[in-house]
Amino acid sequence: MADIAIEFIDVVKKYNDVTAVDQINLSIRRGELVTFLGPSGCGKTTSLRLVAGLELPTAGQMLIHGRDVSRRPASERNVGMVFQSYALFPHMSVLDNVAYGPVIRGESKHKAHARALEILELLGLPNLSRRLPSELSGGQQQRVAVARAIAQQPEVMLFDEPLSNVDAKLRRKVRAEIRELQQRFGLTAIYVTHDQEEALAVSDRIVVMNAGRIAQIGTPEDLYDRPNSPFVADFIGDANLVDGKVAAGCFSAGNLNLAIPGEAGNARVSIRPERIVLGGSAKPGSISGEIVSATYLGSRMEYVIATNFTELLVSRPIAEPRLGLKQHVSLVINEKDLTRVS
Ligand code: ADP
Ligand code: MG
Repeated sequence: MADIAIEFIDVVKKYNDVTAVDQINLSIRRGELVTFLGPSGCGKTTSLRLVAGLELPTAGQMLIHGRDVSRRPASERNVGMVFQSYALFPHMSVLDNVAYGPVIRGESKHKAHARALEILELLGLPNLSRRLPSELSGGQQQRVAVARAIAQQPEVMLFDEPLSNVDAKLRRKVRAEIRELQQRFGLTAIYVTHDQEEALAVSDRIVVMNAGRIAQIGTPEDLYDRPNSPFVADFIGDANLVDGKVAAGCFSAGNLNLAIPGEAGNARVSIRPERIVLGGSAKPGSISGEIVSATYLGSRMEYVIATNFTELLVSRPIAEPRLGLKQHVSLVINEKDLTRVS
């Protein structure tokens, strides 16, 4: 299809007996930002390197704009990459760093510099263009690395944990800038991170990976609200995973009984901590519990509450009346906040 930019078809990558990427199938649309999210070692970097042509697949096909590039080297793919380390040329000014690719490709220095300045301006860096990389902060260097990759007008942009070396405080700002540039230039991009909040913040869609495979693909809302497995529920946000049984359209665990669609049998459900409502006294449809820990986290209170079937993590806004240890409370869980994950 014309609007598909990148396609993985049954892609496998093995390093001797390690299967780093295990039969991945994925289509990325033009202009889309897709994030690969997963724990260390799950195959995120290898997947990116397969798109870039820095690795060739052991089996399967890689297509870029419909062209089979499976056996094509990096030099024959127009792909821009930004890594954790900024990898700027230390002896060149910021401007020359950004203009480097186009100049090497034969563009006039004048034109390349004009475009470089325009991109630096979008990143709020035009007054730094004469400096050397060593005269910039980490966050500024990473923005220059992003500018340099974009100046090459790549068909596809790849980001491999680009913010790991950027100050925690600056990360939010730089990730918003990356997202803005990607949208402004209509770039197709793959963004790799192990940070679920970053993934939720920048992505059109997220691909959750586990042990070389795709665990789930969806929009940030899909993955948060409708995780398909305990792994995804636990990896994105906090989740209470509760084991019970489904019979006649009802999930039961202890004295929790809630309507749920799907097959009868043993089941595990995920309930987000912020969806559980707390009341002072028992009401119809509620369950009872006792507070075993209460933690002040500045923006919210976090409680661990023992019920007769499990302990539940509950997160409540700070404005609500504070509850104390050993207090007996009633918990209300709504049917719509229950997601079956196995
Ligand atoms: P991630 O980026 O998600 O942390 P990687 O793609 O780097 O994961 O690695 C996936 C798996 O492949 C890991 O088990 C890793 O040790 C292995 N691996 C990656 N690159 C190589 C390599 N060049 N040689 C051997 N094993 C590798
Ligand atoms: Mg990696």
